[in-house]
Amino acid sequence: MANDLPDLTAYDAVLFDLDGVLTPTAEVHMHAWASMFTELFTAWGIEPPYTEDDYFVHLDGKKRYDGVASLLRSRDVEVPWGEPADPPSADTVCGIGNRKNEVFSRVLREDGIAPYPGSLALVERLQAAGVPIAVVSSSKNAEEVLRVAGIRDRFPVVMDGVVAERENLPSKPDPAVFAEGARMLGVDPARSVAVEDAHSGVQSAAAAGYALVVGVDRGAGAEALRACGAHVVVDDLAEFLA
Ligand SMILES: [Mg+2]
Repeated sequence: MANDLPDLTAYDAVLFDLDGVLTPTAEVHMHAWASMFTELFTAWGIEPPYTEDDYFVHLDGKKRYDGVASLLRSRDVEVPWGEPADPPSADTVCGIGNRKNEVFSRVLREDGIAPYPGSLALVERLQAAGVPIAVVSSSKNAEEVLRVAGIRDRFPVVMDGVVAERENLPSKPDPAVFAEGARMLGVDPARSVAVEDAHSGVQSAAAAGYALVVGVDRGAGAEALRACGAHVVVDDLAEFLA
């Protein structure tokens, strides 16, 4: 029941995950993988062609390079692993993974992306109430996604994959990124809210000691999110506006 949900404006700050919480970015990732692999499979004569099933079986939820290796292996294709610094033109696992990132940016620019209306409405409510907000994302594309979605200016602090790499922070579920996000915003996690849609993200926020961890169930499952440490789970952030 919406009436049972806590008032988020009563907390010192609210820190949001990006992909799946503020923006439906998964679709852009899916589209980018499909576009990149369809092109690659055609150019290399790889059979059978890439299908949407490949995304769920080999790519979804995996680290980028592991996903590439898994999908190529399913077609009996072997290429050298290479290194993360490989250019997108390199025919290595890392190069192909980096190529996907390039396509992601192109798809984002061409198709655009809009924030979830309920999430945007909550952000507006918090801003109107003077509650500090921030983004805590593992993505290295966070700045770009926020800009294309037209909400970059709303967030004074964006703790993303670029910052994490620079500061050598271990990825979610480690608490480091949510702890750093609070530090950057100058707030105490014990008086703040974290909003997440992924198991690993909820675990990270819970371990960082947030007063309230909100799980947004975009498919991860309410029960699973609660088991990971979410205090409340909603289907959409508009429920907090009721
Ligand atoms: Mg997410």
